[in-house]
Amino acid sequence: MNKGLVLLFTGTGKGKTTAALGTALRAAGHGKSSLVIQFLKGRHPSGEREALKGRPVKIEIVVLPHIEGEGGTARFSILEESDISETVRQEARKAWEFARKKTLSGAYDLVVLDEVTHLIKLGLVSCNEVMELLEERPQDMDIILTGRDAPAELISRADLVTEMCEVKHYFQQGIKAKRGLDW
Ligand code: ATP
Ligand code: MG
Repeated sequence: MNKGLVLLFTGTGKGKTTAALGTALRAAGHGKSSLVIQFLKGRHPSGEREALKGRPVKIEIVVLPHIEGEGGTARFSILEESDISETVRQEARKAWEFARKKTLSGAYDLVVLDEVTHLIKLGLVSCNEVMELLEERPQDMDIILTGRDAPAELISRADLVTEMCEVKHYFQQGIKAKRGLDW
């Protein structure tokens, strides 16, 4: 059996989610199936989901829960625990249970828990719960965790950690999220 690996993409620079998606695309090319769970994103469409619609690529993307109205895309990174409504809190718990069930189902070669560090930071899921899922998952499954401010425990547990370091971002020129580059 091929040992599954834990990859963690963290840091403040751009490229964490897209690196995870790129890896899922690469896996699909080898006939492997991936599940990408995007936590806490806005409701508007994203290029990655549009690209897969109706195409027989073995990548499933699920967005859970949406947080439009509480900020939308990228807002999650500046949200604080007190900004989270009880409804979103409950939805986030359901999302986590869904992610857990799917990860344990054995139906995927790769699972991406996108922005999972924000679930931890916002007190929606404990770091222990994530650590437990890493232990309980099928041992040949690869798993990618993404998000800023990864806790030390996850960094220590992961087999690979890449920190995206922001050297420059067009956001500083006032250029906001750009279609095709950011969503
Ligand atoms: P991407 O989804 O493009 O790979 P990411 O996952 O590394 O980026 P996140 O921290 O999840 O980035 O932020 C979500 C969105 O915010 C991204 O679309 C990204 O372009 C944008 N973003 C990332 N870094 C910055 C920054 N330093 N300032 C403003 N916006 C940023
Ligand atoms: Mg991201």
